[in-house]
Amino acid sequence: MRRAVVLGGSVAGLLAARVLSDHADEVVVLEPDDLAEHGTGRGAPQRDQLHAVLSMGHVQLERWLPGLTAELVGGGAHLGEGPRAVRFFVDGVLKAPVPRLRMLGATRPFIEQHIRRRVLALPNVVVRRERAYDLLFSGGRVCGVRFSAMGDGVHGDIEADLVVDAMGRASRLAAWLERGGWEPPPSDRMTVDLGYATASFHRGDELPGTVIAHSMPGPASAYLPARCEPGALAAVEGDRWSVVLAGYADYRPGRGPQEFLTRLRRCVAPLREVAERCAMDGDVRTFHFPESRRRRFTQLTRFPGGLVAVGDSVASVNPIYGQGLTLATLQASSLSAHLRTGADPHAPAWEYFRRVRTVVDAAWQLSTTADLAQPHVTGPYPRGYRLMRWAGDRITTASVLDTRVNETFMDVVNMRAHPKALTRPSLLLRAARVLAAR
Ligand SMILES: Cc1cc2nc3c(=O)[nH]c(=O)nc-3n(C[C@H](O)[C@H](O)[C@H](O)COP(=O)(O)OP(=O)(O)OC[C@H]3O[C@@H](n4cnc5c(N)ncnc54)[C@H](O)[C@@H]3O)c2cc1C
Repeated sequence: MRRAVVLGGSVAGLLAARVLSDHADEVVVLEPDDLAEHGTGRGAPQRDQLHAVLSMGHVQLERWLPGLTAELVGGGAHLGEGPRAVRFFVDGVLKAPVPRLRMLGATRPFIEQHIRRRVLALPNVVVRRERAYDLLFSGGRVCGVRFSAMGDGVHGDIEADLVVDAMGRASRLAAWLERGGWEPPPSDRMTVDLGYATASFHRGDELPGTVIAHSMPGPASAYLPARCEPGALAAVEGDRWSVVLAGYADYRPGRGPQEFLTRLRRCVAPLREVAERCAMDGDVRTFHFPESRRRRFTQLTRFPGGLVAVGDSVASVNPIYGQGLTLATLQASSLSAHLRTGADPHAPAWEYFRRVRTVVDAAWQLSTTADLAQPHVTGPYPRGYRLMRWAGDRITTASVLDTRVNETFMDVVNMRAHPKALTRPSLLLRAARVLAAR
């Protein structure tokens, strides 16, 4: 390819740019926000919230940007491995650590800035402060993008062999396709009505050896009696704890620091410790996430060539399961696999969208099965839901008692294994034996 143009310079866009740098003479990333300095921008307001990178996300990040984890740790991030990353269920039970799992203690802007620095150091990748506002079509394919430059308001067109939509949840791709005479992809939605609140605390020696502690709901944890508030903390760069609380429907956490501390005192022990011993630094920042959403490109019969989508523009799932960034890394790898087959970038990228469907199906299945167990979530129910819920319930309970069940469970939670691994007869049998012996 002569030129690929990526719309959106956040994590999914940057990783797509990294992949495309192997296939195009020039990769141009259009991003309206100035992300160079603080790494925050209005285009992705969720950057303020604590972000976890799942194990599979680490594997994929290292694949595309080798040495990134060491750079992050060198810059002040913390690595949570083994007993340094503790996980509780919402009923307060501590789970056994899984040795091969790693989590990173760092803020989202810090992680993103490191990714940006690495990607923009590639000789054929540039970022331009421009907002895309339409696609250009010619001969059954997308051949470019119409943009306006930030600041001086200059408008212009840029030609491209391949355009990547990485504009996040608010992507206007569907409207642009319709305007160009193409059908927009149908979408699936599930109302989850989730509230998030993140606050930063000064960190001392109150929790030596702890990098991550969380009691966020996982698959099937809604079946357990909740004895503590869902929440998580991470030791992040700059000697801070980043602490997040979550709640559904009317129980969404608010902005008040006192309310935050009161709820934090009802969390699992490490979070309570921070509430008691550490001073809050700055404001409580909230975020409302109304619904999980995915676009089903593979259900279309016509689609222009020269166009793919990555990241939240394709699927944005309940963030409580921490899948979004990892999905973006897997989509980057899907794009690479697609292009490495020698696919013509000017042709419709069906094979790419089929690969992406596999990873999105897995994330969607995991998150929506767990969400459907919440009393305020009313559907739609997927085929096989009863079996998935039944299996999830047993596996969750057995995972607290048995290391082997726990390892598979955690592999699925960390997207290292497909959720169907939880319904494998040998695992169900083992879980049944564990539960019978209890
Ligand atoms: C509260 C909350 C907590 C979360 N926690 C986690 C977590 O713990 N772990 C995890 O993995 N994921 C988490 N996520 C999900 C994660 O934030 C997203 O999956 C991830 O940011 C998706 O990256 P993206 O690049 O697709 O989109 P975004 O990060 O949303 O970025 C989209 C980019 O596109 C740009 N853009 C928009 N319009 C245009 C345009 N017209 N032209 C050019 N550029 C444009 C924007 O400025 C922005 O930079 C969380 C999400 C939320 C809401």
